[in-house]
Amino acid sequence: MTTLLTYVPSPGHTRAQHPESHLRMTPLIPALEQSGVLGKVEMIVPEPATIGQLRRVHTMELIEYVHHLALRGGGSLDHGDTYVTGESYEAARLAAGACAGAVDQIMIGNAHNGFALVRPPGHHAETDRVSGFCIFNNAAVAARQAQVTHGAKRVAIVDYDVHHGNGTQDIFFEDDSVLFVSTHLYAPYFYPGIGGMYEIGTGRGKNFTFNIPLPPYVGDRGYERVFDELIEPRLKQFRPDLLLVSAGFDAHWQDPLAISGLSLTGYAGITRKLIDYANSLCAGKILFILEGGYQHDVLSAGVTNVYHALLGHDIIEDPIGSMPRNEHDISDLIDRLKQHNLLN
Ligand SMILES: [Zn+2]
Repeated sequence: MTTLLTYVPSPGHTRAQHPESHLRMTPLIPALEQSGVLGKVEMIVPEPATIGQLRRVHTMELIEYVHHLALRGGGSLDHGDTYVTGESYEAARLAAGACAGAVDQIMIGNAHNGFALVRPPGHHAETDRVSGFCIFNNAAVAARQAQVTHGAKRVAIVDYDVHHGNGTQDIFFEDDSVLFVSTHLYAPYFYPGIGGMYEIGTGRGKNFTFNIPLPPYVGDRGYERVFDELIEPRLKQFRPDLLLVSAGFDAHWQDPLAISGLSLTGYAGITRKLIDYANSLCAGKILFILEGGYQHDVLSAGVTNVYHALLGHDIIEDPIGSMPRNEHDISDLIDRLKQHNLLN
């Protein structure tokens, strides 16, 4: 059994004082080394995504826009939230290409599973629009790589970042071959402001987008129920050939950008559920792809715990502990989502 690691820290794509910087990545490899994980994984060298791979999910206008902006030295987009530097075009291509390369190794059977530690993140990048710190949609490029290059019929993407994966939803909204499932904080003024339960896809894609919009302070128990009662049955119905995870660690209660309530132990629990689903539904083919996560200790331990789970270790690192308040009860929401999605 081989577990992959591919690493794209993109130090040239960074802006001072911005929460999404290469400083998020700096502690990751030392943390993996210290926990004994690094020697047990197979590191693969990332290659940049080709224009053809990007064109499967983005318009040529968007790709050229980012390229030209980078050639001019960069600039701000999206009301200043999303930046492009002179090196961002190459960095974003490398992040997306690393994910496609990891999919190649998993689909041809050279590896069992893996985690692509890449940035810039991708899940807010839409077909024709960069947004929310994201430039190219890494998970979407990975899904299409599995389908176009390796003949996968159905790919499921589960997004447990605290923000809704509006970009991934946009790209696959009319597509019944990619199931997009997102758990996210859904509250007034919280980015990106969409991801309600009635956004379910359209045309052939109707019912292949499954949004699970959560109130603030949903914790380990709430997430466990969401995975057991909503996500597992939907994945069983869909029967994916590959499971991709948009793995953001900003639903942790200490994250500075959100007000959710997962602990590291809770994250490890839902991570292990996803690996179990992949083992029972698609011969263990699962690739985690890094999205957000802005508390650096949480990110390091969260990433380490994913590798422990992928490697079959019975270890969970949680030096921080649980949210120091009662979690929000979501029984009514779960019932409504079950009825809405015919999961009873
Ligand atoms: Zn996020």
